Amino acid sequence: MAKFKRILLKLSGESLMGRQGFGIDAERLADYAAQIKEIHEMGVQIGIVIGGGNIFRGLSGSQKGFDRVKGDQMGMCATVINSLALSSALGALDVKSKVLTAIRMEPIGEFYSKWKAIEAMENGYVCIFSAGTGSPYFTTDTGSSLRGIEIEADVMLKGTRVDGIYTADPEKDATAVKFNEITYDEIYTRGLKVMDLTATTMCKENGLPIYVFNMDVKGNLRKVIDGEDIGTLVHN
Ligand code: UDP
Repeated sequence: MAKFKRILLKLSGESLMGRQGFGIDAERLADYAAQIKEIHEMGVQIGIVIGGGNIFRGLSGSQKGFDRVKGDQMGMCATVINSLALSSALGALDVKSKVLTAIRMEPIGEFYSKWKAIEAMENGYVCIFSAGTGSPYFTTDTGSSLRGIEIEADVMLKGTRVDGIYTADPEKDATAVKFNEITYDEIYTRGLKVMDLTATTMCKENGLPIYVFNMDVKGNLRKVIDGEDIGTLVHN
């Protein structure tokens, strides 16, 4: 039995680069698609938000002289590129998916609405919510919080390259200790960088739990759905 009926899966654009350092790594993409297919076959309703950091980030663009709003729009377009790639990889595995966009851009994707998304998920489509929130100065983490709350997901699964939340960055500090669970308030007080504060606050205020886990290990998504304790749960 799946632990969750409906999930919002957040994938970072950066993870999509795999070992390439830029763009989309076909192997990583295929692995993500296979993991999603596995839980789709269990009957889980799946909404996905994928970042764009492997292609463009507005903030780093503005540091190089780009107009911030145009840079953020470029970043949002980057998330659309990644969403199309993921949709294509799912299609190759015979998993039906729909790319919905926060900004009108038919025929690339349908314009997002909560009801369209829920109907599609109930009809067995994986929904990929692209272009973040559609507005500059936000991130795809905030986009995932927003979509997760809107579609009434049971949980936001944040797939990262580490296996949960630690007292410090485990890639930099060998003494870092992992939390099995943590409250949103503790994330603020300890200054932990799990998601940006806007995204964390939205989840806190609307009671959407976040589960942080390592998506780069094959089979981990299935383990989370099976209820195995492999990551960190964030709750009120
Ligand atoms: N972005 C935005 N509004 C949104 C979501 C994303 O302006 O609602 C832009 C922003 O410039 C961001 C980029 O899209 O840097 C890519 O998204 P993000 O950095 O969240 O991707 P990730 O780091 O998860 O790959």
